[in-house]
Amino acid sequence: VSVVSSPVGTDGEGVIVVFRDITKEKAEEREQAEFISTASHEMRTPVASIEGYLGLALNPATAYIDEKARDFITKAHESAQHLGRLFQDLLDISKVEDDRMKNNPKIININEFLKEIFEGLAPKANEKQLNYIFAPDMIDEGKEKSLQPIFYANIDPDHFREVVSNLIENAIKYNHQGGEVTIAIEETNDQAKVMISDTGSGIDKNDWEKIFEPFFRVDKSRSRAMGGAGLGLALVKEIAKQHGGDVSIIQSSNQGSTIAPILPKKS
Ligand code: ADP
Repeated sequence: VSVVSSPVGTDGEGVIVVFRDITKEKAEEREQAEFISTASHEMRTPVASIEGYLGLALNPATAYIDEKARDFITKAHESAQHLGRLFQDLLDISKVEDDRMKNNPKIININEFLKEIFEGLAPKANEKQLNYIFAPDMIDEGKEKSLQPIFYANIDPDHFREVVSNLIENAIKYNHQGGEVTIAIEETNDQAKVMISDTGSGIDKNDWEKIFEPFFRVDKSRSRAMGGAGLGLALVKEIAKQHGGDVSIIQSSNQGSTIAPILPKKS
């Protein structure tokens, strides 16, 4: 039942309360979520197989192909990877929306965890010739002993990896050729903020809330050219919240943006 109450008249004169039976709406929502989750699950499996075989075709140790075929297969491989990612995002979002995503939290060292994700995405940053910086490393420069503060958090590393890698991938994707991406950690008493900054063209203030909605993309034609479905940030927000954290746009202008997942710290 949905209940909406609205005051009428002046100062507590009365109230109108509307009770609405939403059984049918809820059942339809569940059916729709189930359809999306089954369809994406079923489609993800053959796409993973296509991706795997195209990968084998591209590997000189497993196949001989001429240069022209390599070019075509590389493009097909990239598209299959893209499609696989899209189905995975659809599957994940349907799971978080109906509370089926179960977290297995572990105590992890945030610095090490971030460094591993950062390094995994370095090839993408290099393709765009970005100045790609992991700030906690900079603190160590020129010092004999590491004075780098170490933070721990109680999170599901598989799910939280999605959060951080989606944000770094966006910082790379929506950046200019030769721009900069920096990952830094800031702490307050009980929280650690992972500051992910880029030098792209930024996000209009009117869109700051909307970009976390599923399927929202700022500039449809520009975004379509870059690939993606507008699911990444919706997923990022849901997963961060499930971990007792959040994600927030720290700043964004035409000089670039800083977006930060915020985590409760574990001492
Ligand atoms: P996708 O990248 O698949 O479109 P996201 O949910 O990750 O989906 O992002 C939603 C939209 O927010 C993007 O289409 C893009 O317009 C905008 N956006 C996200 N990150 C950035 C960023 N770092 N700089 C500028 N725009 C961004």
